[in-house]
Amino acid sequence: MEKSTEILQQYFGYDSFRLNQASAVENVIAKKDTFVLMPTGGGKSLCYQVPALVLEGTAIVISPLIALMKDQVDALRVNGISAAFLNSSMNPLEQNDTFHQLKNGKLKLLYVAPEKLSADNGSFLNFLKEINISLFAVDEAHCVSHWGHDFRPDYLFLNGLKKQFPQTPIIALTASADEITKQDIIKQLNLQKPTVLISSFDRANIKYFVQPKQSVLNHIVQYLNEHPNDSGIIYCLSRKGTEDLANNLKENGVNAAFYHAGISSAERAQVQDDFIKDKIRVMVATIAFGMGIDKSNVRFVMHADLPKNIESYYQETGRAGRDGLPSEAILFYSNADVMKLKKFAMVEGNEEQSSLMLRKLQQMTDFAEMQKCRRQYLMEYFGESHPGNCNSCDYCLSDFENWDATIDAQKLLSAVYRLKERYGKNLIIDFLRGSKGVKITDYMRNLPTYGIGTNGDKTFWQNLIKQLIINDFLRESNEEFSVLKLTEASNEVLFNKRTVHLQKVKELAKAVTVEELETSYPINEIDTNLELFDELRILRRQQAEQENVPPY
Ligand code: ADP
Ligand code: MG
Ligand code: ZN
Repeated sequence: MEKSTEILQQYFGYDSFRLNQASAVENVIAKKDTFVLMPTGGGKSLCYQVPALVLEGTAIVISPLIALMKDQVDALRVNGISAAFLNSSMNPLEQNDTFHQLKNGKLKLLYVAPEKLSADNGSFLNFLKEINISLFAVDEAHCVSHWGHDFRPDYLFLNGLKKQFPQTPIIALTASADEITKQDIIKQLNLQKPTVLISSFDRANIKYFVQPKQSVLNHIVQYLNEHPNDSGIIYCLSRKGTEDLANNLKENGVNAAFYHAGISSAERAQVQDDFIKDKIRVMVATIAFGMGIDKSNVRFVMHADLPKNIESYYQETGRAGRDGLPSEAILFYSNADVMKLKKFAMVEGNEEQSSLMLRKLQQMTDFAEMQKCRRQYLMEYFGESHPGNCNSCDYCLSDFENWDATIDAQKLLSAVYRLKERYGKNLIIDFLRGSKGVKITDYMRNLPTYGIGTNGDKTFWQNLIKQLIINDFLRESNEEFSVLKLTEASNEVLFNKRTVHLQKVKELAKAVTVEELETSYPINEIDTNLELFDELRILRRQQAEQENVPPY
């Protein structure tokens, strides 16, 4: 361990390892397989860079971030470490040069793009057999898994790594935390009795806010005026969305640029560089932006559209505050986004994948809609416990009234009970509110609970159900049509053994105008996906009819 600390200080200029870095380093040096889960900015790189210097031979680092390889290698070289990279952006001459160094054992680290592994049926791995390899580091390891949010087919070639190099330790690193992905990475990479190191995901210096998606541009401009020295990233789901928002911001005098996969790579590199060097203040981007980008003073990350899942949300917001200073994450939330993403999820891949995506979307929605400490929700999502009351999320910072919801909860739970736990929330609400709808039978009408819930409107009951589910007073079964079921806690409430204290429900954005839909998904981008956006077509046609112009 002394040797690694020495290297840390001598080559990297840091005094000490962070928690789990030390264990990872030690473990790899002992030639054991290692799985490292650390949030973005946690310091994953050193976990393989230091062992690479301690061990004999060359460390092979597989990383999907071609754009950053050069920067990383340059940074290592500046520190006096012999490193190189191989990727498709290099000409054969440059590649030969690297191969030459590699053969002569001159390199401590070699960064390799995944497409290099799959090229020529994996001939590169055969070539590596002739060389003394110290370790394999698989960075952004979630790319190997279909369950992760960023699957890359080229990563599948890593399946054979362990078989071909049984003696060489593999260290897999990711910031993607859900359990299925973790298990799948370990399986796909065939890690042998790996040491699993999981760091806390809590980013204490980031404040979390969710606000209704209304007048987004105004809100952003106002925020920027109130924080004149702050720079940050705004994520949108569509390419056109980023362009429109960036242009709108520029019209408002903001130094902004947009970034998405549709612009040339030279241009992308340029704006990225300008942003890192503080020449651009606000980067409006699709998810294409940010993976591995090390700009330490990002003060805010906003989401103008809803992310697809909590992993993406957390990874993106995690790009704020890498320097440890106070930073903010702001999500603009609307139900219309949920509808759109649902449609996306439903046509995506096979049925299993669709249903996983829908489940993850539901969790994202819960995060935005629930009445609970946001940090606590996030930490629990990633399998950590958190006491709540973080005092740095919109929920903990607002002065919600405490609300004794016992009586309303009893009404609702007894409706579930009277209807024998056989119905979903819509029918339960209709029943409570004394609806005369066709689904309400005569039998139901004669039950004592029928119509006792006229004190609240539909939204009121929907919100109550959501809160009761989140707090385990009720659960939703996972059948084709979800059915409300009682829990042990609901029985205690029903029989007056327990009270229910909730917070007064905050109003969330319900009405979303046509204009707002269009800034998110302009027609020219969704042309190819029209079947996904029937609601947009209909809206547009209606609008066109009113204005007497052709719809397209
Ligand atoms: P990750 O890959 O997990 O997102 P990086 O490896 O890029 O994180 O490191 C994030 C930042 O933290 C970098 O600026 C790095 O220099 C810094 N860092 C990492 N380890 C240490 C340490 N032990 N002491 C001080 N700074 C560190
Ligand atoms: Mg990294
Ligand atoms: Zn909180």
